[in-house]
Amino acid sequence: MSNITFTMIKPDAVANGHIGNILNHITTAGFKIVAMKYLHLSTEKAGEFYGIHRERPFFNDLVSFMTSGPIVAAVLQKDNAVADFRTIIGATDPKKADAGTIRNLYADSIEANAVHGSDSDENAANEASFFFSAFERY
Ligand code: UDP
Ligand code: MG
Repeated sequence: MSNITFTMIKPDAVANGHIGNILNHITTAGFKIVAMKYLHLSTEKAGEFYGIHRERPFFNDLVSFMTSGPIVAAVLQKDNAVADFRTIIGATDPKKADAGTIRNLYADSIEANAVHGSDSDENAANEASFFFSAFERY
């Protein structure tokens, strides 16, 4: 069990003015921010990040959405970070996300669902390295 996970505040939540509320929700839940940056993904980078979904029907729309505006990318630290973060963000589809979760509170749709959260320790490490070099992490 590692203690880091990777997140993005997606373009919908940034455009809707939710960066502050979402960061507050994350830090109040006990996560420490160990790296963070604000950037606009290129089509190439978004496609590479979501490469595991390349064959899924929603892939092209997802890449368009993720490049539609700036995002916040961050590495978060906490005991049991991956599982605990998935709990506080809620289900992929905000209509199915538990009350009080980030997606329940701030997401628009199954695609524009406010935040990303890693699904395993291995992916958390890979996703963190995709966005941050060692000297950009506290
Ligand atoms: N997604 C979508 N349509 C779907 C399923 C997923 O647009 O039917 C998008 C959504 O933004 C989701 C991302 O693709 O967050 C990655 O999907 P995944 O199944 O990994 O969901 P997550 O791990 O983000 O909950
Ligand atoms: Mg996923």
